[in-house]
Amino acid sequence: MKQRTVKSTIEMEGIGLHTGEKMSLVISPAYPDTGICFRRSDIECEYTRVSPYTVTSTQLATTIQCGNNTISTIEHLMAALYGLGIDNAKIDVCGPEVPVFDGSSTAFVNAVYNAGVTEQAKARKFIKFKKRIRLEKDGKWIEVIPSRFFKVTFDIEFENESIGQQKSFINVTPESFTKELASARTFGFRHEVEQLWQMGLAKGGSLDTAVVIDGTDVLNPEGLRYRDEFVRHKMLDLVGDISLLGFPIFGHIRAYKSGHNLNNLFARTLIESANYYDIIELPDTVPVQNHNLELKPQGIS
Ligand SMILES: [Zn+2]
Repeated sequence: MKQRTVKSTIEMEGIGLHTGEKMSLVISPAYPDTGICFRRSDIECEYTRVSPYTVTSTQLATTIQCGNNTISTIEHLMAALYGLGIDNAKIDVCGPEVPVFDGSSTAFVNAVYNAGVTEQAKARKFIKFKKRIRLEKDGKWIEVIPSRFFKVTFDIEFENESIGQQKSFINVTPESFTKELASARTFGFRHEVEQLWQMGLAKGGSLDTAVVIDGTDVLNPEGLRYRDEFVRHKMLDLVGDISLLGFPIFGHIRAYKSGHNLNNLFARTLIESANYYDIIELPDTVPVQNHNLELKPQGIS
């Protein structure tokens, strides 16, 4: 299997969740072994390759350090790139945050499908877990067990009746990611959103950028996109946070009530558990995932 990048440059523009201001974003093809790199294009800044150690905050969203500055809300974009099997890309963000769009990965997934994907001349590397690794904190837990695929099982329990208990499982491929996870939106409670507004935060938070719950009601007039949209969004966040490892994984991740903070601690723990995994390459003849994206090996290789 070969590494992959986007076939052409993608330009996007949308509102930032925190500032409520318009942010632009450019995703460009990158050479093999570049990984996913971010740069602030509104200030003097070098590209930073993402890793779990570049994360400086997991409050409300995943924020990375980029030179002397930060870029926040990277997780839904990261999830889309991982979900669609993009190994290498350079991302320029004109401002302190990635646009939130509708609070899901849909805009990024559509943009990558439109731009196309290019296979590159170098082999893709995978992390293959050999033993279970588990992390528990404050009644929440997350673990990985060996698997021939990348699978996620997620369990949430909220006292709020609109959410309640939800459990879901997915074998992550570009197709299943696109259909089952990509359009699940972030969610919050009305009183929390109002509190954030009073603190001058989440200025871009609205019914256009999140599912908002008030008591037992979902306030968005269009309702939910999936009956269990909440747990699906938690899985989307997990895929985005785990993608910071920098390699696609073979393993089954199971999580109970995890969030950005525990996801990031777990990603760091995984990297530091070198005896528990191998870095492998697969011969081109082994079909790992059924990639239906249009592939034209041209451009950057
Ligand atoms: Zn999210």
